[in-house]
Amino acid sequence: MKNNPLLQPYNTAPFSKIENAHFLPAISKLIAETKAEIDAITSNTETPTFKNTVEALENTGEQLDRATSIFFNLNSAETNDEIQKIAQEVSPMLTEFSNDMLLNETLFERIKTVYKQKDSLNLSEEQHMLLDKKYKAFSRNGANLSDEKKTELRKIDAELSKLKLTFGENILAETNKFELHLTTKSDLSGLPEGVIEAAAQTAQEKGKDGWVFTLDYPSYVPFMTYADNRELRKKMAIAFGAKGFHNDELDNQQNVLQIANLRHKRANLLGYKSHAHFVLEERMAETPEKVKSFLNELLEKAKPAAQKEFDELTTFAKELDGIDHLEKWDGAYYSEKLKQKLFNLDDEKLKPYFELKNVINGVFTVAEKLYGLHFEEVHNIDKYHTDVKTYEVKDDENELVAIFYADFHPRAGKRNGAWMTSYKPQQIKDGKNDRPHISIVCNFTKPTASKPSLLTFNEVTTLFHEFGHALHGMLANTHYPSLSGTSVYWDFVELPSQILENWCYEKETLELFAKHYKSGEVIPMEYIEKIKDSATFLEGMATLRQLSFGMLDMAWHGSDPSGIADVKAFEVAAFNDTQLYPDVKENCMSTSFSHIFQGGYSAGYYSYKWAEVLDADAFALFKQEGIFNKKVADRFKGFVLSQGGTLDPMELYIKFRGQKPDPEALLKRAGLV
Ligand SMILES: [Zn+2]
Repeated sequence: MKNNPLLQPYNTAPFSKIENAHFLPAISKLIAETKAEIDAITSNTETPTFKNTVEALENTGEQLDRATSIFFNLNSAETNDEIQKIAQEVSPMLTEFSNDMLLNETLFERIKTVYKQKDSLNLSEEQHMLLDKKYKAFSRNGANLSDEKKTELRKIDAELSKLKLTFGENILAETNKFELHLTTKSDLSGLPEGVIEAAAQTAQEKGKDGWVFTLDYPSYVPFMTYADNRELRKKMAIAFGAKGFHNDELDNQQNVLQIANLRHKRANLLGYKSHAHFVLEERMAETPEKVKSFLNELLEKAKPAAQKEFDELTTFAKELDGIDHLEKWDGAYYSEKLKQKLFNLDDEKLKPYFELKNVINGVFTVAEKLYGLHFEEVHNIDKYHTDVKTYEVKDDENELVAIFYADFHPRAGKRNGAWMTSYKPQQIKDGKNDRPHISIVCNFTKPTASKPSLLTFNEVTTLFHEFGHALHGMLANTHYPSLSGTSVYWDFVELPSQILENWCYEKETLELFAKHYKSGEVIPMEYIEKIKDSATFLEGMATLRQLSFGMLDMAWHGSDPSGIADVKAFEVAAFNDTQLYPDVKENCMSTSFSHIFQGGYSAGYYSYKWAEVLDADAFALFKQEGIFNKKVADRFKGFVLSQGGTLDPMELYIKFRGQKPDPEALLKRAGLV
């Protein structure tokens, strides 16, 4: 214990000194220390003040937060059986610790005392925000309720977590239950070689001959996109859409109804009109009414374009295969065929222009031109794997802005996808501005003996996206760590990331870095045009689909669901304005809508489109003034990237943009108006 590196002071994470055996003892010791820090606050005999209570609470557990972020970051990027086993022990310890804190009545009484005087305390805007955030963490967890109602709330929470678990288990079982087993080669017509190989392998694993396709995305999506056999596509699509809707032991209809009703009851208990009112209180969108009118405004504008695209697709399918009525199982298939006809652009043609090394330099140059940041690779910082690159990030005055870690390639022990995270938050404490340590983790194509790492265009935009989150972290400039960097409302956090993707489509940016890895030739203009056009291909239909999910989510969570008896009928009514294809009576979306009934997106599905509106509208200002215009960049840095969650996001946005976000910008960019 004495030599446990997680219990010593350190600046950058001491990866090379940490052994797996250090985590559990360090984290339990640090939890105990943090509890003692909290006890010191609650046993203080002085009257509660902002400083001795709210700020003091904010300052607890600093070393614990650092240790847990190292641990969970490793569990995502460089894990093994041992780490996973430790996670099984650490997670409940942390949950228990945070539950105990939120149920600590003495602590809440002190915070409440300060909260009641909030307008007479002469607090800065940031301090106001911190006080509000701390108070709400308790009140939204039931701290203001009577003991009897508190017990009721705990009962609802326990029931909800059980129901969500069952919902997910049913979907998983339904997914695993179905397979499409093919033994006739002609049934594979249209499918790419790699997809056929994977299906043969799946069959082999199941001890079967021929080919097996499943409802897992990597099998299902290519089948629906490429398989020529319409009857088989229909079979797959109906199986996919009927998950949790077979009136058997895996049926989710009752689970959906119970989850919706319990959420409503929970919200009422806490004094909110509906679950959506409860959720949206801490979102930029604020209220269900605002979300609904946001979705409706987009619908009204996007629907004519979507209908037109649908008619074109129908005509195309008729010409190609004599199909009279386009069904759900035809959509992906004919979209792909039409796309090939119109664009004839594939990744293999583009990849030579996107060597990873060049793309990294490109994104660094963009950050330099916009925000005056300079990245220098350094080799004296401890890392958890030799693949990781480390950088010092400095400003024009040569002051340190951040430490930046980048981990680009897949390996065993790293989960899928791409993400940004941090090892140390930014904060200003005792007059000292402590700079953050930020990391991005990706799974990009690896270099081979003969070729460097060449990225697909999708990987290029992914890198810009995660780097946008990283800028939000690196440029943070606030006092309190819990309001710093990406600690913002959930429907605001994708603005810095999504906006940066826009630069990938600009000639001025591509000329900086999109050069052929052998010849050095800049990417041809014709390719850039095609990238842009194909990005908005059938965008109207895609928009309508996203809106339909957002509307279904709000229908379930925006009002009292106790009168709903028939899940399918309720869903059909909610979909009324958004459907292009005929309804499939065997199918139900709600019974497998994991995002909202299992995951964290309830009353939040709208935020996908919301974030797109923000980034389109914000980027429109850059487009208007020049994509590297220093004044606009300064405002974006000053009012968005550096401010974290210190102010209401709408206020921050208006300070930057001079107006509220305008959905028209998204519709224009998507070519829908
Ligand atoms: Zn993101």
